[in-house]
Amino acid sequence: AAKSAGKNQVTVFDSALRAARLEHTRLATGLRHALAREELALVYQPVVDLATGDIRKVEALLRWTPAGGSPVRPDVFIPIAEETGLIIDIGLWVLEQACADARRWHEDHGITVAVNVSGRQLRDESFSDAVLELLDRHELPEHALTLEITESMLLATTAAETRRIVEVLAGLRAHGVRIALDDFGTGYSSLAYLRTLPVDILKIDRSFTTPLTEADHHRTRAFTKAILELSASLGLSTVVEGVESRDQADVLQQMGSPLAQGYLFSPPVPPARIDDMLRVTPWKNAA
Ligand code: C2E
Ligand code: MG
Ligand code: MG
Ligand code: MG
Repeated sequence: AAKSAGKNQVTVFDSALRAARLEHTRLATGLRHALAREELALVYQPVVDLATGDIRKVEALLRWTPAGGSPVRPDVFIPIAEETGLIIDIGLWVLEQACADARRWHEDHGITVAVNVSGRQLRDESFSDAVLELLDRHELPEHALTLEITESMLLATTAAETRRIVEVLAGLRAHGVRIALDDFGTGYSSLAYLRTLPVDILKIDRSFTTPLTEADHHRTRAFTKAILELSASLGLSTVVEGVESRDQADVLQQMGSPLAQGYLFSPPVPPARIDDMLRVTPWKNAA
């Protein structure tokens, strides 16, 4: 009996694995056509000055809705785009679209735009030339673009690849493009990467924000405060992610954090909504 139960378990496990693999293949195939079928879109999330309530920048976030299907989460399709190499073309499309959208926001309101990039993109020979070329073509100054990178993007790279990535980032930074270290504080070696990577901006992960106003918040507040101080003493600017409540925003402002991003202010929205917000800034009086 034990033996046949074990066999059944293997069968169940096997078919679950097969289903997962099928789903993965289905998504990878779909993603291959996503650009041509115009299934990709960008939404933008405002980054707000806590003191004034003004929008200072926006982060571009990619959305994929396969024709006739429901949206696939970025956490699911971005890794597939990386594995398949599709991230190179998709990433260029994202940069192109973000620069096109950001041009008028920058011209009229001084808004800068942040774009997430993968390690795979940074290891591509033509990446920095492509970035500088499209900034030029869209007449967006280099300092109006921030590239967001994560330490996890360096995990699977060799020492030579890491050196190459650092070189590419330093080169773009020398041209004025800003570099942000995203999800700061979540990895195993955030501090080590902060020393290695040429960065201008720290984005403190939302896992630090949520517990700020919970009953047992003392340790979290100490960590967040220490990161804010470290960031300031390194001459970096700081954005706190995942601010969902007024109380969290108040605590952060008391700690001296100038910039924040989160559902309290706005979820990621289509570009036309950003135009509306820049006209009225609805939370301005509340902030
Ligand atoms: P990220 O760059 O750290 O982006 C922040 C994520 O947090 C976004 O999820 C955003 O919708 C979500 N978020 C913002 N405010 C709040 C809040 O107050 N509470 C909570 N719970 N969540 C909040 P999203 O859009 O699902 O993106 C997930 C991740 O996918 C991004 O994390 C980024 O790493 C990646 N990603 C998105 N677009 C791109 C892209 O164009 N290229 C690359 N390489 N990666 C991308
Ligand atoms: Mg980001
Ligand atoms: Mg230029
Ligand atoms: Mg993040």
